[in-house]
Amino acid sequence: MKQFACPEELAPGYYSIQDPYDGSVTHWYRPEHHAVLKAWPAKANPGPSLLRKDVPKGDDRIPFLRAWSDNVATPYAEAVRTAILTDPIEASSRFAAFCARCWMCGKTLTDRTSKCYGVGPDCRRSFDDEDLAFLASVMSKTIAEAEDAA
Ligand SMILES: [Zn+2]
Repeated sequence: MKQFACPEELAPGYYSIQDPYDGSVTHWYRPEHHAVLKAWPAKANPGPSLLRKDVPKGDDRIPFLRAWSDNVATPYAEAVRTAILTDPIEASSRFAAFCARCWMCGKTLTDRTSKCYGVGPDCRRSFDDEDLAFLASVMSKTIAEAEDAA
């Protein structure tokens, strides 16, 4: 499972971005109590992968793994962080539009109103009318984008 550190200022929740390497839409989440980004769903494996058979044995092992981390894994993680931080609200609403799930808690969105906001009834209690209008406007743009991509 892919996971890596994310900036503290990124709110816990779910995010979808265009994968920086292959252009598909990939999904990530930041859990409530950890400043990490995890690939979602857990079995998803976006980005570059290192297979055990490709890792040399013996004295070359550690330098190889260090170089792979510095040159491959870290740049990918940076690109994902940058893509989310460029517009976290858009990344959240993209998650809701693509997955039909609440971008705050990940639960399935069942009714029309929740799909319109991208947030389920429990999670949107903390939002005022102005927030909800803003979310609806971002979601309608994102849903149109998701339909174009389908
Ligand atoms: Zn929710």
